[in-house]
Amino acid sequence: MTSVVLGAGGFIGSHLVTRLTGEGRAVHGADLKHPEFSPSRATQFHQGDLRDLEFVRSVIPEGAEEVYQLAADMGGAGYIFTGDNDADIMHNSAMINLNVLQVCQERRVGRVFYSSSACIYPGSNQTEALTPNLEEASAYPAEPDSDYGWEKLFSERMFQAYARNYGLVARIGRYHNVFGPEGTWTGGREKAPAAICRKVAEASAGGSVEVWGDGEQTRSFLYIDECLEGTLRLMRSDFAGPVNIGSEEMVSINGLVERVMQIAGKSLDLHHVEGPVGVRGRRSDNRLIHERLAWAPSWPLKKGLSLTYEWIADQVARSADTKSPSRSVLSAPLPTPTSPSLPRSA
Ligand code: NAD
Repeated sequence: MTSVVLGAGGFIGSHLVTRLTGEGRAVHGADLKHPEFSPSRATQFHQGDLRDLEFVRSVIPEGAEEVYQLAADMGGAGYIFTGDNDADIMHNSAMINLNVLQVCQERRVGRVFYSSSACIYPGSNQTEALTPNLEEASAYPAEPDSDYGWEKLFSERMFQAYARNYGLVARIGRYHNVFGPEGTWTGGREKAPAAICRKVAEASAGGSVEVWGDGEQTRSFLYIDECLEGTLRLMRSDFAGPVNIGSEEMVSINGLVERVMQIAGKSLDLHHVEGPVGVRGRRSDNRLIHERLAWAPSWPLKKGLSLTYEWIADQVARSADTKSPSRSVLSAPLPTPTSPSLPRSA
């Protein structure tokens, strides 16, 4: 059984490769880069650019059973919602999806999964923090609040058109804020849970945590293991989607910080600053996935958050170790004062 994971060097893709190889499958992974935090378990890892049609042809073998299309030019709110990267985001991701569809059809693959996003939903359905509407059918009339979302919606339609016109077996999942260990945690492309875990881990007692906006905007966050479970169940079902793959446990960003502080055992002030905040309210609606797959994610947020905090706090500690030149001096034994007049604290 051969599976292909495109975007295998990314957060969800690298976890998916591990899960699929664990099932005993041969897995071809492809990405511009290798996974950042641990070596890929792919049977074969192809490093290259999926915007190049010939590269895509070299990655997807004839008759592959499963192709998971997770590659995209993507990032956290600081990358997607400023507007500064829209042309690249749309061009790069659309080009990848066009190539992948063409090659999936040429190579007669068994089935293909496309990772869409909660960002396809109309901005006008998400103006209230406590009552957002993200039912699948509410995607139309379309009005995503970002060009990242528009590209995802365009590509959903491309996958559906290939299914309709060429008989491609396509499955479309709309992911909602996936998080977990081995996700980007610094550098500007990290998502809210990772950014907050990092800020809390870095803060010293009595310090503060910076939060973009008033922090009352709401979201729901899905732990990586549940994301993989939903993805595989959808891929191997008779249901094409599009369907939400997300958690229904909604939390404000301020509430998220509170939970992380509890996990860390730290009490810090929240410092609200201006920043790209995205829509006011967003939460997965899981009625359809429940109805069609008899399953929906159910892990409480705190469980995944604890595992993620533990991993990020460890990363923060390691990076402090490598950055601090005085660390080795501090851990070396203190020199014995040679003069009794020298204060011991010197
Ligand atoms: P990620 O950024 O970690 O992974 C995407 C990978 O695609 C990266 O490793 C990147 O190098 C690769 N890539 C980008 N351009 C490429 C190119 N031209 N050629 C080859 N590889 C290329 O993102 P992720 O969090 O793992 O998300 C996976 C998919 O799920 C993406 O399509 C994303 O839009 C979608 N999604 C994710 C979330 C989430 O919360 N993580 C939410 C909604 C949708």
